[in-house]
Amino acid sequence: MPAPTERKDFAATARLKEVMGKYFMELMRGREEGKKTAWCTSVGPAELLRAMGFNVYFPENHGAMLGATRMATDLIPLANARGFSPDICSYLTSDIGSYLKGESPFQKMKMPGPPRADVLVYNTNQCRDVKDWFQFYAREWNVPCLGIHTPRAIGELNDSIIEDVARQTEALVEPLQDVAGAKLDPARLRETVDLSRRCTMLWKAVLDTAAGVPAPITFFDGTIQMGPAVVLRGHPDAVGYYEVLLAELQGRVAAKAAAVEGERFRIYWEGMPVWGKLRDLATQFAALRACVVASTYCNSWVFEALDPADPFRGMARAYSNLFICRSEDYKEKYLMNMISKFKVDGVLYHDSKTCPNNSNNRYQMPQRLQQRTGKPYLVVNGDLNDLRLYSEEQARTGIEAFVEQLSQA
Ligand code: SF4
Repeated sequence: MPAPTERKDFAATARLKEVMGKYFMELMRGREEGKKTAWCTSVGPAELLRAMGFNVYFPENHGAMLGATRMATDLIPLANARGFSPDICSYLTSDIGSYLKGESPFQKMKMPGPPRADVLVYNTNQCRDVKDWFQFYAREWNVPCLGIHTPRAIGELNDSIIEDVARQTEALVEPLQDVAGAKLDPARLRETVDLSRRCTMLWKAVLDTAAGVPAPITFFDGTIQMGPAVVLRGHPDAVGYYEVLLAELQGRVAAKAAAVEGERFRIYWEGMPVWGKLRDLATQFAALRACVVASTYCNSWVFEALDPADPFRGMARAYSNLFICRSEDYKEKYLMNMISKFKVDGVLYHDSKTCPNNSNNRYQMPQRLQQRTGKPYLVVNGDLNDLRLYSEEQARTGIEAFVEQLSQA
């Protein structure tokens, strides 16, 4: 059998393009239609903003687009020249570089560019960079910047943390009402949280199909398919899309249709994607008949604790339960469970230079997990967006040697 080199597309992808296209068009038309725009961090209180009638825009999604189109590397120095260190989040620096230069992948889609914010809302559950990022634009446009400060390295997610985060989320309502010019309708919030929870459960079911052998979907597919789970949670379009995708994947599972033809090895991806190299990496793994079956990254948009009957506490629990803001012990247990659930042969850690928050190889995690599971690991040095920090040759050689090592295990 010749080595497979091309990613197998999904029939549902045509629908994905429609859903995402409609979302972007609505964002762009917001101002002329009299709708207010709220910027939100990727794991921020999107349900609240959507329920209040805002168009919700996620700049991290724009950051990923800048990475995937490889525009980021040229734009980052513009932000560096304005005082943002090359060592901080390269989503932040590429997005601000894009703003300063007036160039964005949206223009290639015949759209003007990111919509200007009427309000910016962050949650520091993922990192502090998002707050500094949003405060830059708040100063530029003289608009409010509001936020939730979530504790980091959470061990036990106890009631006092949930109460604190829920109260902080509720405290956003009044200033948001001032910007929106309308009151929050509690029924609409419950309905939005319900849609978000349905989206999240479908997205989880999509990712869980990869526990099947052979896996019907790869991590690289997941980074594309996750779009609606990130930007449209709380919207019926996301629910509709994942129903279609899940049905297709269940068909693949029933037919034992592999995402990587002749799957020999199953790998877990820990850390950020290398956005500008997704295709190259997918092709290399496919050629080696190794399937990257699961990742912490794609699973970060699974919010099982959302609760329409108790929206604020449910959001607080869901957004504080994220892998990224949990303790090292919690992370270790989580990864052990994923290794077992997805029948993983080895773990790849992406040490993403500008995102220490999503690089879990730096405090001995790979060694501890190898000791406990017996699964080998590989560390790839790189970055989410700044390709100057990624050595293609080194990554290729490392991956080849790693797969060779798996074949001898
Ligand atoms: S978690 Fe990492 S990639 Fe995401 S915004 Fe924060 S620093 Fe950037």
